[in-house]
Amino acid sequence: MSHPPSGRGDGTGDGGGGGGGPRGAGRRIAVVPHTHWDREWYDPFQTYRLKLVRLVDELLDLMESDSSYGHFLLDGQLAVVDDYLEIRPESEPRIRALVAAGRLTVGPWYILMDEFLVSGETIVRNLQKGILRGSAFGGVMEVGYLPDMFGHIAQMPQILDQAGLGHAVVWRGVPSAVSRSAFRWTAPDGSGVRAEYLVAGYGNGAALPEDAKQLVRRLGSLADEFDSFLAAGAPMLLMNGSDHLRPQHWLGRVVAEANALQDDFDLAITSLSDYLATAPTEGLVEWRGELRSGSRSNVLMGVASNRVDVKQAAARAECSLEQLAEPLSALFAPAGRWPAPFLDLAWTLVIRNSAHDSICACSADEVVDAVLHRYAEARQIGEGLTEQAMQAVGRSMAAPGPVAVNPSARTRGGMVDVIVPAVGDPGPDVQVLSERSGLPGTLTLDGETVRNMLGLLQGSRIDDQSYVTDVTLSEDETGLDVTLAIGPEPREGVPVEEVKRELFTRLTAAPSTEVRLHIDQPPVRRLLARQEPVPGFGWSRFTSAPLTHPVRLEGEPSTGLVLTNGTVTVGIDPASGTFSLDGIAGYGRLVDGGDHGDTYNYSPPANDTVVDTPTSVLVVAGDPGPVRATADVIVTYEWPEFVDGATHARTGLRTVTVTTTLELRADEAAVRVRTRFTNPSRDHRLRVHLPLRAPAATSSAECAFGTVERGLTAEGRDEEFGLPTFPSRRFVTAGGVTVVHEGLLEYELIDIDAGGAPDGTGPVASTLALTLLRATGMLSRLGMALRPLPAGPMDALDGPQMLGPVDVHYALCVSGADPYDLADEVLLPLQVTGSFGGGSRGDRGTELTVGGARVSSVRRQAGALEVRVFNPTDSATTVHVTDRSGWLVDLRGRPVAPFEDSFALRAHGIATARLDD
Ligand SMILES: [Zn+2]
Repeated sequence: MSHPPSGRGDGTGDGGGGGGGPRGAGRRIAVVPHTHWDREWYDPFQTYRLKLVRLVDELLDLMESDSSYGHFLLDGQLAVVDDYLEIRPESEPRIRALVAAGRLTVGPWYILMDEFLVSGETIVRNLQKGILRGSAFGGVMEVGYLPDMFGHIAQMPQILDQAGLGHAVVWRGVPSAVSRSAFRWTAPDGSGVRAEYLVAGYGNGAALPEDAKQLVRRLGSLADEFDSFLAAGAPMLLMNGSDHLRPQHWLGRVVAEANALQDDFDLAITSLSDYLATAPTEGLVEWRGELRSGSRSNVLMGVASNRVDVKQAAARAECSLEQLAEPLSALFAPAGRWPAPFLDLAWTLVIRNSAHDSICACSADEVVDAVLHRYAEARQIGEGLTEQAMQAVGRSMAAPGPVAVNPSARTRGGMVDVIVPAVGDPGPDVQVLSERSGLPGTLTLDGETVRNMLGLLQGSRIDDQSYVTDVTLSEDETGLDVTLAIGPEPREGVPVEEVKRELFTRLTAAPSTEVRLHIDQPPVRRLLARQEPVPGFGWSRFTSAPLTHPVRLEGEPSTGLVLTNGTVTVGIDPASGTFSLDGIAGYGRLVDGGDHGDTYNYSPPANDTVVDTPTSVLVVAGDPGPVRATADVIVTYEWPEFVDGATHARTGLRTVTVTTTLELRADEAAVRVRTRFTNPSRDHRLRVHLPLRAPAATSSAECAFGTVERGLTAEGRDEEFGLPTFPSRRFVTAGGVTVVHEGLLEYELIDIDAGGAPDGTGPVASTLALTLLRATGMLSRLGMALRPLPAGPMDALDGPQMLGPVDVHYALCVSGADPYDLADEVLLPLQVTGSFGGGSRGDRGTELTVGGARVSSVRRQAGALEVRVFNPTDSATTVHVTDRSGWLVDLRGRPVAPFEDSFALRAHGIATARLDD
């Protein structure tokens, strides 16, 4: 996705520039022919693919027949090669030959992803998939090509470095402080790459004139633009291509003619790698951290809140693969049963969706439908593999009964929902949700009734909580005896169908036989309890822990209901529908304002109406405790219906009922919030306002492999206001409040006191606004308040209006707990399954002990258990992998250093360890 270039720098000083010294007298002009291939965007994938196949057909013919068309960059993403070969498999040798000859460059990515809206693992897997796929063609381009991403994460230099890539090529997000076209880009751990800033974008040399004289004139004016970023006479990098552009087949001729015509410029068609191979790497200015400035090009920050359903689907799919299916399959599935084909398929879906126009959902509605479908399939695979691994745990247990598995590294307890035999008094530390008494012992039935009853039984499942766990058939001279044992968990190998067949055969032979049906179903109860701590990556038979801080509901819904566990107190205000948290009021205030923007950017209408006052509030008590207490706050509002394009005002009124469920658990510090409603309105933005405990000048948000600290402002320019709405991955902390969320990526610190902190250090904010919904109706738009020029086609869309059900989840914590621990507690609950016993696994234990760093990934790779960790702190750490040895490897799996039991990890470092068996 491109936009009109507006490059301009403050260019002073030396350094920068790129690509070797002048060849001959003229200034060196490196021309890199390419295309930027958004696989799906304002048209669906298949529509673009038809064009892609035509483009690559032409390209291969051109390159094979014209040696002067020396190089082509196939957009740095292998996905387009696969997309092409799916239709033209016979052309694979042609592509391989051009890659081997160094004329066609592919990769290193599988897809050109967005970096902020997907997980660090998705970014790493994308790079690894690109490198692996590229090896089939003779290797990838050894350049971290990042042409169009909407800004860049802080850890990208470390990721590139660990994949052996010494160069990045970027455009968006470079701040004004970087005044040269080359800089040293450093990650928080200190590792870095040389970064080439594409002056005026990845299309700065698109659509070059076919006439040599005109081309020379174009170079003259481009040189003026480049010179503010380059040392005088330094080489210029021209990217000859742009969005979906086909190759200019006469390029070789016009380059030769232009060189013959004059001596000022010396043009050469080249590759990005060749250009960068001679680029100076010394004396560069350094930039450390993320690149999110709008100082020279749009960062399009509103994509973080566009189509919240896509962001939620992404969060669920990534969690189900990274944090459940992979670690549990790696640690608990039987040896030799690593489900590589399923995981490869699921990851391919997630990686395809990480494409910048896909996850950002700044795309046609049909594209977003496809994105949601891919995420659903990836999640279905993740959930299915998780269930299989949990069943394997159940089969392996020596003792019967529920068993809890901890999918995170840290030993922890947590609330579990289990079904247990209803024997005796459940005790004070559990919460009984339901009780089912046993069925009567023996029924004497005629053959017809038995046929009808058992005919309904398919397999062993009776309902979600009842399964046939054993069945026998016997016969004596008085009739047939069928014995059914019924339990709360499915059991494998129960011969239900065999017994049914045998029974029906006998009844056919002797229809008047009496059948005695003996049912053995012990009474069961479903209860909530707090599971005793389970070791990290371990298991434990269900054991109810005594509650240190049981939770309870106090007060009356009409005058003020309170949820408290003794350490956290939530008081619901029946007048406003908001709640207090440990004495500070005003949490959960819903603020709805107009948004006449597009999928890329928020745009408040000129005559905005903001609605934050309910027309009615109803508080309803829910679960009473002691394990879980809940209350519903049911609030109605009159929201305007849409923004009138003529008056720039919100018009019409729609009544909406918003139900917010507040939940507090025993012995937990987080208040869980679920807000749901049916969105009736267009063109608006709904945020929840969360008071900070202390004024704050900064926020700390999770990003890939760490957190990033941001201030209250963002750098912009006239063409895109620097709106300080920022993305966070799973959590953000500011002013003593941590918000953990599932796909609610956009936050902003607001209510800013310009007078500043008591010590006079500058402005501070007192509220964190979390965007719950941003509803707009245009892919892109002209003349918006904060971004006057379009960022894409001005297509009207229905999908981004998000009319219909909205259901969002987040949690709040003011205790100062570690946000990574909180994210696990809220988003990664203990997993529970049932067991009949009979295996060899003991009551409690662990398969893997990792400490001293955060775990990003546990999986099997190249036959070995592989663990990726990162250190989000400012201090070096020792990572313990207890009783295990192995090798640290880089992101290409190449050995770096051996280790035994532990290894050192620098502050903000990422490390990947392959463990010996
Ligand atoms: Zn793009």
